[in-house]
Amino acid sequence: MRIDIATLFVEMCETVLSESIIGRARGAGRIELYCHNIRDYSDDKHRRIDDAPFGGGMGMVMQADPIYRCYCDVAQSIGKKPHVIYMSPQGKKFTQQMAVEYSKMENLFILCGHYEGVDERVIEEIVDEELSIGDYVLTGGELPALVVTDTIARMCDGVLSSDECFTDESHFNGLLEHPQYTRPANWNGKQVPEVLLGGHHANIQKWRREQSLQRTLQKRPDMLETAPLDKHDKEYLAELQAKAAKE
Ligand code: SAH
Repeated sequence: MRIDIATLFVEMCETVLSESIIGRARGAGRIELYCHNIRDYSDDKHRRIDDAPFGGGMGMVMQADPIYRCYCDVAQSIGKKPHVIYMSPQGKKFTQQMAVEYSKMENLFILCGHYEGVDERVIEEIVDEELSIGDYVLTGGELPALVVTDTIARMCDGVLSSDECFTDESHFNGLLEHPQYTRPANWNGKQVPEVLLGGHHANIQKWRREQSLQRTLQKRPDMLETAPLDKHDKEYLAELQAKAAKE
């Protein structure tokens, strides 16, 4: 998969995308990530890419043309129109499920706004989808684009060591993940749950599933309304709820 990020702050993005798991995956050619400086597409002699809003008001607005040219350059170099996302607090809220869908795409082009945002006409012209990372406003689209890129990239083939690394995780299957423990088995007088030391795979799986259900019920009961649950899961949850009602 290839993701192109259009930004005014290439270094900010590169710093994050060159480290750790994503940096290694890039180095190994498992995912292609490119950051483009929108300023390189300005035809102003001072490389300006913003101007005051028509109609007056505070702040500056990013101009349509440099963004459009950046997009056209990328579309030309990959030989087709990429799926275009504009990071925006007005967009649909980003979820793990969306990340799963995006990770199946060949190309994504992510536009980061700054200042007051971007000229509406370039959104109409090139953007397929607006995505938000939450109901709050940041100074720019770089952190949101990095959040989205990181989430998608770790689901691409070969980026994590095995599929299990994300299929068991919080949100992937509609539930929160079970608790995790590592050595030492006794820390500060706190013992790791016995079942995890026994090496009985089926028992461990059962315990983890139940912990996952229990946590989701405690921390995010709203998720249980849509999580895919089997008969045993429902019985276990009913037991937990009955117990809680008695207490
Ligand atoms: N004036 C705009 C906000 C501009 S914030 C409005 O009121 O809708 C500047 C830029 O930061 C935006 O163009 C967008 O790219 C990014 N941004 C800010 N908050 C965001 C969020 N919650 N999710 C995704 N992008 C965000």
